[in-house]
Amino acid sequence: MRKLALILTAAMAMNHAVSAEPGRWPGGHKAAIALTYDDALPSQLDIAIPQLDAAGFKGTFFLIGREIKGNLTRWQAVAAKGHELGNHTVTHSCPRALFEMPPQYMSENSSVAVQLTEIQTMNNLLQAIDGRSDHAYATPCGQTLAGGADYLPALRTAHLTRYVRAAAEPGDNSQAIDPFVVPSHFFGQGDSGAKMIAYVEGVRQRGGVAVIGFHGVGGDYLEVTAEAHKQLLDYLKAHESEIWVGRFTEVLDRATHQR
Ligand SMILES: [Zn+2]
Repeated sequence: MRKLALILTAAMAMNHAVSAEPGRWPGGHKAAIALTYDDALPSQLDIAIPQLDAAGFKGTFFLIGREIKGNLTRWQAVAAKGHELGNHTVTHSCPRALFEMPPQYMSENSSVAVQLTEIQTMNNLLQAIDGRSDHAYATPCGQTLAGGADYLPALRTAHLTRYVRAAAEPGDNSQAIDPFVVPSHFFGQGDSGAKMIAYVEGVRQRGGVAVIGFHGVGGDYLEVTAEAHKQLLDYLKAHESEIWVGRFTEVLDRATHQR
């Protein structure tokens, strides 16, 4: 996964914050942040979630079905505490060029139909865990090709999800958010607390909204350190009267006026 880590970090290390209208956020907040965590990694259970709980924040965890492994009851407890679980497919197929993987996990060997079945099956698994019928989706490896075809057009009309977290550029900062191409900004290896805080400070000053992505926290891969993650949460706590930290779906509901 290290090679993937570098590629994803490079691809996603762009400013993906978009502007929000004043007064859009609950409680008169000026800006909104969604903290999202990918791949069902144990370091999220061991480090990120206890830090979030201590700060009183809710995160969003995009789970891979095959990575839940022995942690099913722990993820059930995470959902019961009010964190959001999201769909990151069952097998997480990615382009073969990104990193070493068995051929059954290469997106070139998948298809639009298989990918939609993956998403539907993962929705069912998530519903068995958290009792919810509505789950956001995050694209594995930030891309939507399966068997050489783009599955996003089919996903838009499949009624499997309302929001797709992408790694796409928002283009113009004032542009409305496409619910099926929600921009995100990833932090990973080598990113300090100060760097993450500077990014969020920019979002706060602009009165914007941003979706932040993580993989490992203090372990696993693509990881930020536990200390850096804690520093970001401390900053968000210190600015909680101005910055709303919400679950991905509730932030998007506000940002797109769907709820
Ligand atoms: Zn992933």
